[in-house]
Amino acid sequence: MRNYGWLLKNIKNLELIETPYPEVKEDQILLEVLYTGICGSDLHAYLGEHPFVKPGIVLGHEFVGKVIDKGKSVLNLEIGDFIVVEPSLTCGKCYNCTHGRYNICKELDVIGCTKTNGGFQKYISVPYYKAHKINDIPLKRAILTEPLAVAIHGVRRSSFKPGDEVLIIGSGPIGVLTTIVLYLSNPKKIVLVDPLEKRLKLAKDLCLEIITVKPKDLNNNLFSQEGPDITFECVGIDESINMAIEFARKGSEIILLGVPQKISKAELIYIQDRELNLKGSLMYTKDDYLIALDLLRKNQVNYEKLITHIYPFSRVPEAFENILNNKEDYFKVIIDVQVE
Ligand SMILES: [Zn+2]
Ligand SMILES: [Zn+2]
Repeated sequence: MRNYGWLLKNIKNLELIETPYPEVKEDQILLEVLYTGICGSDLHAYLGEHPFVKPGIVLGHEFVGKVIDKGKSVLNLEIGDFIVVEPSLTCGKCYNCTHGRYNICKELDVIGCTKTNGGFQKYISVPYYKAHKINDIPLKRAILTEPLAVAIHGVRRSSFKPGDEVLIIGSGPIGVLTTIVLYLSNPKKIVLVDPLEKRLKLAKDLCLEIITVKPKDLNNNLFSQEGPDITFECVGIDESINMAIEFARKGSEIILLGVPQKISKAELIYIQDRELNLKGSLMYTKDDYLIALDLLRKNQVNYEKLITHIYPFSRVPEAFENILNNKEDYFKVIIDVQVE
């Protein structure tokens, strides 16, 4: 058997290479990768703008697949099971690993991001305890598990409670999924801001009662108490981080889900001056995955509408370019890995 993957060889340069056909260790399962989602962080890495994900790796951390082989200590999964993978590989020994926060492991490796080749590959083996069975969820919905878990983690990092008024900055996949999670959690009000009309419309189609605005129309009178109770920043550029700082009510909380540039010109003076609580949110843990899978099973909103394009494996570079050149029309793009 042979294996192939799209190597990020250099900035804006993806090359199809032969990768080793994976061995299956005792505690691993071998997957035939079926769908892999293109994430904002894959695009950042492709453009050479990601602070931590660098060329020299096969990208892809959002993937679903079918079990085609397994190690002898794997008892809870069978050949033929459909699986979504939690891509974080952790040491299990550091302070945060032993205190339930392995998403911020000291030695964190993320499949398709740091050291281990990812899902833009035909076959991959992963530890069985990183796999979740999705036999009862359509694959084109289950492929959203990873970004949905990011959104869930962000909301769980916050002090959100039913009846709160929230501001969400950015209507990309993470912004819209954060909107959905909050929408299903009984907020008093959700205001979503983004410059792109079509992206706002997509969010509004899924979550009817939210308020969507362009940045120029954002103002604190949209909220009943001088501003939002919590602001979720889901972009990561200086402009949007400063927007979060500007519109957050004094003394309120900002959750940073977007990945900022390495050197940021965010106006920290106002964090101090307005006693804002700025909190970072990175990835997720198993609990977030379980909540994400539960939400996808309940299917209260039309999640599949977020997937606007499906590309075959041979057209991965074209998919990357098209998303970057057409942000209005391309939302979540997935690769059908077994189709050439
Ligand atoms: Zn992702
Ligand atoms: Zn660790």
